Amino acid sequence: MPVSENILRKYAELIVRTGANVQPGQVVQLTIAVEQHEFAAMVMEECYKAGAKKVNIEWTCDMQSRLNFLYAEEETLASVLPWEKAKLQQMTEDLPCRIYVVSEDPDAMNGVDPRKLSAVMQSRATVVKPYRNAIEGKHQWAIAAYPSEKWAQKCFPGAEDAVDRLWDAILKTVRIREDNDPVAEWKAHTDFIEEKAAWLNAQGFSSLRYRSANGTNFTVDLIPGAKWAGAGAVNNRNGVFYIPNMPTEEIFTSPIAGRCEGTLVAVKPLSWNSQIIDGFSITFENGRAVSCHAEQGQDLLEQMIHMDEGASMLGEVALVPKESPVNQCGFLFYETLFDENACCHCALGMGFKEVLPGGDDLSMDQAREQGINDSIIHVDFMVGADDLYIDGVRPDGSVTAIFRNGTWA
Ligand code: ZN
Repeated sequence: MPVSENILRKYAELIVRTGANVQPGQVVQLTIAVEQHEFAAMVMEECYKAGAKKVNIEWTCDMQSRLNFLYAEEETLASVLPWEKAKLQQMTEDLPCRIYVVSEDPDAMNGVDPRKLSAVMQSRATVVKPYRNAIEGKHQWAIAAYPSEKWAQKCFPGAEDAVDRLWDAILKTVRIREDNDPVAEWKAHTDFIEEKAAWLNAQGFSSLRYRSANGTNFTVDLIPGAKWAGAGAVNNRNGVFYIPNMPTEEIFTSPIAGRCEGTLVAVKPLSWNSQIIDGFSITFENGRAVSCHAEQGQDLLEQMIHMDEGASMLGEVALVPKESPVNQCGFLFYETLFDENACCHCALGMGFKEVLPGGDDLSMDQAREQGINDSIIHVDFMVGADDLYIDGVRPDGSVTAIFRNGTWA
C-alpha cells in the first residue's frame, strides 16, 4: 500500500525531533535527493516548527554524480575548490544540525572505473577531514532513508510494488505504524540499548573472542576505559541528546588499532563504492589485515584495505542481536545505514574518539596515541552468524559470555 501523508508527517517529525533533536535557534543543513523534494519540504517545515533559525537544503542527484564521474577528469573531480572550503569553514563556525536523507540508487556508479572513484574519494576526503574533525562531537546529526524507485528495484528486482515493499521494511525498522506513537517506542528502544551498554561498561572487558562454525575465529583487544556506546549521542556544546542513525540497533566501541588476531568471515555481502563484495573473509595478524578472500569483488576488497595506513586495521566492533528488525526483513538493503544494523559487525578504518573518556576534546593525534584507528575509510562488514559466540575476557583472565547463538547470552 502506498504510504499515507500521516505516516510521512510522523516520519519527518521523528527525524527532526527524536533523531537530530533540532533546538530553537539552530541552523539546519538538510542533505536530500532532488527527487525527494516533497519529503524535503515536510522535514524543512518540521525543523522550523522545532524552532530552527535557518534551514539550508543541499540537494544531491545520482545523475549528476554519475555523469561527472563518467566524463570529468579525475584531477578535476578530486580538487576541493576554494568556495567548497569556505563552505566547510562556515560549517565549523555555524555547527549546524545536519540531517541526511539517503535514497541513492546502489547502482548509480555502475560502469565508473572503481579506481577513479576511490582515488577521487581518497583525495577529497583528505582535504575535508580536518573540517570534519573540527565539528565532531560539537553538533547534532541524523541519517534516515527514503526509498527511491531505483533503490527499491535493486532490493526487489522486477517487483511492481518494490517501493511499497521497501517502505514497509523501512517503517518497520524505524518503528512507525499508522496508529502508534513512534517517539515513545524509540524511547523504550534506546533505553534498552543504553541498559546493555551500561552492563558492558561495568564488565571491564579487555578483549573479545569470536567463534562461529563458518570459520570465524578471532580475538580483539579493547582500549582500557573506552566506553561502549549505542543509540544516542550527546552534543558536547549544548548537552542535547540526539540519535544519529535511524534505524539503530548496535552497541559499539573502538578496539585498539593494530591489536587483533585471527579470521573474520562475513555473513552478508558488502556494498562499497556502489559495488558488491561477497563471500569474503579477512585474516588479521598483529592487528592488520594480511590476507583476504572474496568470491566476488576480490580486487575491490584489496583496494579497500590499501586505501591508507589505517584501512587495514579495525576502527569499530559492534554488537547487534540477530532478532534485529533489519535482520528480520531478510533482504540486503544495499545501504550501510540498514545493513550494519542487521547483526554483529566490525569496521575497517576510522575509529570513534568519542568512546574515550573526554574523547571529543582530544585531537586525532592524541586519540591515536590511546589506540583509536585513523583512516579516511570506515567500512562495516557483518560477521553476526546465527551461531556466533562472543566472550568477554577481563585482564585477570576471567571470562563472561556476551553473545550465544547470535544474540545476547
Ligand atoms: Zn557500526
